[in-house]
Amino acid sequence: MRTVGILGGGQLGRMLALAGYPLEIRCRLWDPASDACAGQVAPLLSVPYTDPDARQQFIDGLECVTYEFENVDLELVQALAQHLPVHPTPEALRLFQDRLIEKQTLRAYGVPPPAFAEVDPHRPERALEVVGLPAVLKTRRFGYDGKGQAVVRTAEELEQAVQRFGTQPLILEAFIPFDREVSTIGVRSRSGEFVGYPLIENWHDKGILRLSLAGDEQPPPAPLSASTLTCHSERSEESQKNLTPPSPLSASREGGEPYSPSPFTERGQGGEVIGSVALTSMRQLMEALDYVGVMTIEWFQVGSQLLANEVAPRVHNSGHWTIEGAETSQFENHLRAVLGLPLGATTPRGYSAMVNLIGAIPPAERVLQIPHAHLHLYGKEPRPGRKVGHITLRADTPDERNARLVELLSVLREVLAPLAGVEAFDVCLRRIVGENGV
Ligand code: AMP
Repeated sequence: MRTVGILGGGQLGRMLALAGYPLEIRCRLWDPASDACAGQVAPLLSVPYTDPDARQQFIDGLECVTYEFENVDLELVQALAQHLPVHPTPEALRLFQDRLIEKQTLRAYGVPPPAFAEVDPHRPERALEVVGLPAVLKTRRFGYDGKGQAVVRTAEELEQAVQRFGTQPLILEAFIPFDREVSTIGVRSRSGEFVGYPLIENWHDKGILRLSLAGDEQPPPAPLSASTLTCHSERSEESQKNLTPPSPLSASREGGEPYSPSPFTERGQGGEVIGSVALTSMRQLMEALDYVGVMTIEWFQVGSQLLANEVAPRVHNSGHWTIEGAETSQFENHLRAVLGLPLGATTPRGYSAMVNLIGAIPPAERVLQIPHAHLHLYGKEPRPGRKVGHITLRADTPDERNARLVELLSVLREVLAPLAGVEAFDVCLRRIVGENGV
């Protein structure tokens, strides 16, 4: 029996543990919260991360350790790595758990982020010289789902926002008037094998992911197949040279037409080019860092250009559709990667949509009556703003998928309380089916 230790016991840990069962891979979780929802499906150690005796208890019999959130304590991860492999490495965690170091790293490896600057709380206006206005002020650490950030339009607003954040280290980023938000999910195994999922289109509301669409773009063309890639440790000088990343990250369409900012009518006419450029650049980053496991990059698409907003060194909400919508899920592939098993194909099974359930759970009967709807509940008590489950819809054509999505969103609007943020669905619906469809 192979056992993987997971730091964190939320829904990502839960779905990782569930993905392990068919392969007889067991997961052991560590989360200080005794009601952490992954504890319903796998053994949970619920003591503080600072408990020195708990470390030995946690790692006893484990083959390796991974984590399901990036705000895990770096010192703890480094200490565990003294005893057994930790994937992604403590170094990857260090690079991607701080927004400033993250953006410096992305830039160093040729993956362009929005303009950014470290904020000196005594001279915040200095950051404006680099970034300009409008801008987004963010805490360097512990921000997620839009928390720990403020949009500022004037120097005065910046000063006020800096004061509101108190002593927390801050970063200022240019506000990007993006056409859409997309993400790429790549997986790299201990042997250097790499696979990537097709580009995912994401819809956020108040900083929280509401809806993801996938499958609309064809799988990236060669050379992204595993067999053509070399292991990092064996890389030749020639392939080292190939690490020079494409810059800027852009894809021009045939005939050099300008990109029209209406992604829902543009699928297949340039999107797949952008998706494969993004995945190629992500693979280069992962190879350069000798990264092992799933990595997610969230991007802003502006015209035909991509700017990297955020790196998640872990499985990601925008990849939940892969459970039913891809040949191998992100969760199974992450376990395969950290254990050095061959990676599974990432080919999409038709077209998918993933809708997050936030703050409220609909009656299962109403959801399950929609053909090809898959309901995932996380065993969490509903509270405003809390992710308590998701629904994935799968279909053989985009029209079929969109029709099912329209049906699902209208069921959710009917049965969910206003607090569940259902008004956000209207925006998505308008883009998907047009003004008349809502
Ligand atoms: P984050 O927590 O950084 O992923 O931000 C949450 C959401 O806020 C993103 O998905 C975007 O919708 C929005 N956002 C964050 N940073 C920016 C930015 N620099 N420009 C425009 N929108 C942003």
